[in-house]
Amino acid sequence: MRTTIIAGNWKMNFGPQQASRFTAEILPELDKIIRQHPSMLSILCPPSISLSAVHQVMQSIPTHGIELGAQNMYFEDKGAFTGETAPEMVKELCSAVILGHSERRNYFHETDELVNKKVHAALHYGLLPIVCIGENTEQYELGETQSVIRDQIHRSLAGLDAEQASQIVIAYEPIWAIGTGKAATASEANMVIHYIRYVYSEIYGADAAQAIRILYGGSVTSANIGEFLAYPDIDGGLIGGASIKPDFVEIVRKSAEIVKK
Ligand code: PEP
Repeated sequence: MRTTIIAGNWKMNFGPQQASRFTAEILPELDKIIRQHPSMLSILCPPSISLSAVHQVMQSIPTHGIELGAQNMYFEDKGAFTGETAPEMVKELCSAVILGHSERRNYFHETDELVNKKVHAALHYGLLPIVCIGENTEQYELGETQSVIRDQIHRSLAGLDAEQASQIVIAYEPIWAIGTGKAATASEANMVIHYIRYVYSEIYGADAAQAIRILYGGSVTSANIGEFLAYPDIDGGLIGGASIKPDFVEIVRKSAEIVKK
């Protein structure tokens, strides 16, 4: 059985003080829910400046199944890379890292090749990479979703063996659905996620295609998470806007109800 993952991408919100307050507010509730569902995992991904503060709060409140993730990292070990964070530094506080988010691809010109180097570095340092892929509006309207997804998988995951490929998490995030309030329909998301498993089976074999955890991301709230999780191919959500609101707890609660069934 694959773990259900609800990850929160706080994006560029909450400095250390606000991040600590919010974490202290939601953590006991999250823990109560997740503790009863050993097949669930929640990953909080604050901005890098706030990782340490959130880590401190997490150390002070005993929890089960709640982990800390970074929103990005560089692939080099150390050196003259001003403003960047090395994998080993991330590993000091986090167990996971979001890589190739569409906002990084769009605003900071991250390519699949760069994402690929980061994926290798994350695995090397024992971090769980949450690799984001997804088509933009134009590609969606031109019916190019499958070819875009196929290319992104091939390029972003180049050089991984089947075991490594089964360990990572993929987040399918149609760019047109991120932060727009316009989520993909659950059946649309499921079709693409099913296709991702198909591409996976071609490259890495049937076992890896069954093992890979694939999340949907794009305008998920407590009102629609149930629709996505009702599809067996969708293993959870990467939540943006709603992850910095109390609604995040509701998303986790609703997910737990479905996982329980
Ligand atoms: C995201 O940032 O990964 C995301 C899915 O954002 P939102 O939920 O706000 O669409």
